Amino acid sequence: MPEMKFCYCCRVHHPLDQMRLFPTRQGVRWRCVRSIEAAVRSRLERDAFGHQQTLINRDAASRAAEFAQRLRNYATGNA
Ligand SMILES: [Zn+2]
Repeated sequence: MPEMKFCYCCRVHHPLDQMRLFPTRQGVRWRCVRSIEAAVRSRLERDAFGHQQTLINRDAASRAAEFAQRLRNYATGNA
């Protein structure tokens, strides 16, 4: 029977080999690797989504500028 530690994140006991000491505002607490990895992954996914959204916005902005430019050229007969 492996030693069990209480995981403050899942609020259950996990075997010690799945546990890591994790710094929290209340001090260092035991937390399982799985919950730590899930938190890191979800943060990376959020960052990736935010970055993608920035690129989409930038692309849309440059298209709008281009379109406005074309309209101006068209209005002045330079198109
Ligand atoms: Zn856990």
